[in-house]
Amino acid sequence: MQQQRNWRVAVVGSGPAGLYATEALVKRGAHVDVFERLFAPFGLVRYGVAPDHQKIKKTAVVFERILDRPEVRFFGNVTVGRDLTVPELQEHYDQVLIAMGSSAARRLGIVGEELPGSIAATDFVNWYNGHPEHVDFHPPLDGRVAVVVGMGNVAIDVARVLLREREVLEKSDIAPHALEVLCRGSVQEVVLLARRGPDQSAFDVKEVRDLQAMSDVAVTRAGYEGKVETNKGRFVMDLPPEDLTARRKIVFRFCASPVELRGRQRVEQVRIERNDLVQSAARVRAVGTGKFEEIEAGLVIRAIGYQGIPLDGLPFHEDMGIIPNDDGRVLRDPGGERIPDVYVTGWIKRGPTGLIGTNKSCALETVKHMEHDLSHLGPARDPDAALALLSERNVSVIDWRSWKRLDEYERTQGSSQGRVRNKILSLHQALDVLKTSTRAQAGADEPQD
Ligand code: NAP
Repeated sequence: MQQQRNWRVAVVGSGPAGLYATEALVKRGAHVDVFERLFAPFGLVRYGVAPDHQKIKKTAVVFERILDRPEVRFFGNVTVGRDLTVPELQEHYDQVLIAMGSSAARRLGIVGEELPGSIAATDFVNWYNGHPEHVDFHPPLDGRVAVVVGMGNVAIDVARVLLREREVLEKSDIAPHALEVLCRGSVQEVVLLARRGPDQSAFDVKEVRDLQAMSDVAVTRAGYEGKVETNKGRFVMDLPPEDLTARRKIVFRFCASPVELRGRQRVEQVRIERNDLVQSAARVRAVGTGKFEEIEAGLVIRAIGYQGIPLDGLPFHEDMGIIPNDDGRVLRDPGGERIPDVYVTGWIKRGPTGLIGTNKSCALETVKHMEHDLSHLGPARDPDAALALLSERNVSVIDWRSWKRLDEYERTQGSSQGRVRNKILSLHQALDVLKTSTRAQAGADEPQD
């Protein structure tokens, strides 16, 4: 195809989904503007991956290289749906790709879920990772027992961070306010609650091995003595049974569902129902036995999955928590007609599953469709039109150069204390740092007498 001008794409979201797609688009000749709601890029790599998993956080290096490319521009602190609308992006770009992830938490829908002390893992994770919208979150860590509902990798991250040694956390990029609260906290026992059995656990075995590597924490199992058929199931059954004498422990408790959270001013007790496992069609289901039990706990963390949120101007599939699409091409309704030139990738396309790398193949699928659909480029569009709108609307855009200065600042502040980085915790602080460094630069540039 002979192009007269650049193929221009707006990507909404700078997490792994948006940036793997950006890389694939640039390889095919596109010029990409990446819009990010926060002042900092990298989405779940910065705000989701646990601070004691610095090796995984290093994937940010790959994403930095993508954003360093001359065909790519980064516009941070821009909320699409508020500062710029989807129709405005459609007007100023050949194609729009939504990669905004799934930022909300799923709910259990049980009595007592609203009590203080009942929190979502998404809030807890954002809090310890220094997410600017969660700095004022206050998880109550003054009880001895915490119950984590769900048995996926997020549940394991949360259990590990709750009991992690200070020496590991303090060297990481954990938010300082979270480090202090976690280290002053009294949690000694974490019960991970799975409604189904060991074979159906959603975690990766490697993540449990990280728990076993922690000093001074017994990793045990309870609630299931039946047969297992998978390697994961066998791994679980090889864990020692619950050790009632261990002071610090993690208990993988199977076949139990929370049915009520109880307490006067806050959560004090979790009422659980024991489940039987029933094979139904392709899925093993948990069916309540009518046998109940209480666990005394001051903290309940729901780690039962993320949920997408709607974006103004685009359809949304409430039940699935995604934007309806056909392999990345956005549809007006599931199975319905296409919305031309609008695409999705990542969790908002397929739901909140998979590891960071899963987003690469997901992005590739969407980008192949984008390239295929681009039969001709319409009239020339002003590459700076979106920026002009943001400037008219007084949006303080954080561009790539500004982010690099913020990144440098965070690393310098951190390394002076033997840490990976000290994260900037608010937009206000980010703008202050930029102002101060601009003044310092101007001073350094002044001619000396
Ligand atoms: P997930 O893997 O989908 O696990 C959700 C867990 O919640 C499952 O055990 C599920 O049990 C349970 N659950 C769902 N609804 C429930 C209910 N109403 N009552 C009780 N339990 C319920 O989700 P996630 O842990 O949030 O992780 C999201 C994705 O990010 C996953 O793909 C994960 O691998 C990835 N991730 C990876 C890492 C890592 O690599 N270190 C870290 C974090 C996240 P059922 O199976 O019975 O539904």
